[in-house]
Amino acid sequence: GNFVPPIKSNEGNVGNMTSRVAGKSDDTLGDSTKKCLEMLCGPDGELPEKLRNLEPRLLEHVSNEIMDKDPNVRWNDIAGLEHAKKCVTEMVIWPLLRPDIFKGCRSPGKGLLLFGPPGTGKTMIGKAIAGEAKATFFYISASSLTSKWIGEGEKLVRALFGVASCRQPAVIFVDEIDSLLSQRKSEGEHESSRRLKTQFLIEMEGFDSGSEQILLIGATNRPQELDEAARRRLTKRLYIPLPSSEARAWIVQNILDKDGLFKLSREDIDGICNLTEGYSGSDMKNLVKDASMGPLREALKQGIEITKLKKEDMRAVTVEDFESALQEVRPSVSLNELGTYEEWNKQFGSLS
Ligand code: ADP
Repeated sequence: GNFVPPIKSNEGNVGNMTSRVAGKSDDTLGDSTKKCLEMLCGPDGELPEKLRNLEPRLLEHVSNEIMDKDPNVRWNDIAGLEHAKKCVTEMVIWPLLRPDIFKGCRSPGKGLLLFGPPGTGKTMIGKAIAGEAKATFFYISASSLTSKWIGEGEKLVRALFGVASCRQPAVIFVDEIDSLLSQRKSEGEHESSRRLKTQFLIEMEGFDSGSEQILLIGATNRPQELDEAARRRLTKRLYIPLPSSEARAWIVQNILDKDGLFKLSREDIDGICNLTEGYSGSDMKNLVKDASMGPLREALKQGIEITKLKKEDMRAVTVEDFESALQEVRPSVSLNELGTYEEWNKQFGSLS
């Protein structure tokens, strides 16, 4: 019963591995950093070559804050966008699932751009791609690289791509990619942001030419700001427009259904859709949230105390609740902006 298997203890391994990271000795690393490095080790208990010269605290940040092992979004959670879903399935999901088939002349591009108004499901698509392709999802906002990580952005980018290459297949989602790869500022551009951009393009080049199973997705509300180098690397560019009337209906029904609150008729839903032309998916979500407060506010107005309120005291959500919510939640995208996206789509978008 007291048999102890002759296997090296984990702690011994950690000692081995961390002493090789960026010249740090074990004692200078906190427990959480050690644990995280341990998880990045290969089956041999060693930290992969690529990660050895990177700073442990950045590797830890990537593993804990940027990496999401289970993004938990599937195609069925996304309303409408059938065209985008179909293109993405063929262009990126199949190749991630079957790299053996998608090689040679079938080898896919490693960069995808999703552009369009804010709140239309670009991030959801990124997560769904990772979910459907059973890939690890990495999310970073490019503006945080230039604001929060001043002077360290380059190192963080190296750590990000390094960890992703150890977690293949991987999807790296770069939100607001325009702030990283923009064509502005070429004259008075800060040295540090120029270096960051170069580093990013080098990393992309690295996996684009290799057999790595990494997909980079850039998302932007300002595609016109991207420069030619960015467009060249993001070979597929999909327009993610505002939701259609059916998609808006689906969002309303789906959100209310989840909480068992959906009691609207087909006519009610049609009425709501007519009143919400120009609303984004995210606007619709906010609208439903506001409308669902209607029955609660009314019950409280009748004198029921919040602590004693029962579900049965609240009536169903009605079209009138939506009508008053429409006064509070306005569409966040202007018609002018839409014209810009459509123009850019005609010029640079992947239409098929
Ligand atoms: P983007 O990345 O385009 O700015 P997100 O993907 O972050 O937008 O969407 C924000 C929120 O809006 C989502 O969490 C979701 O609740 C809602 N939403 C947006 N578009 C859709 C859609 N097509 N289907 C379902 N929900 C959507």
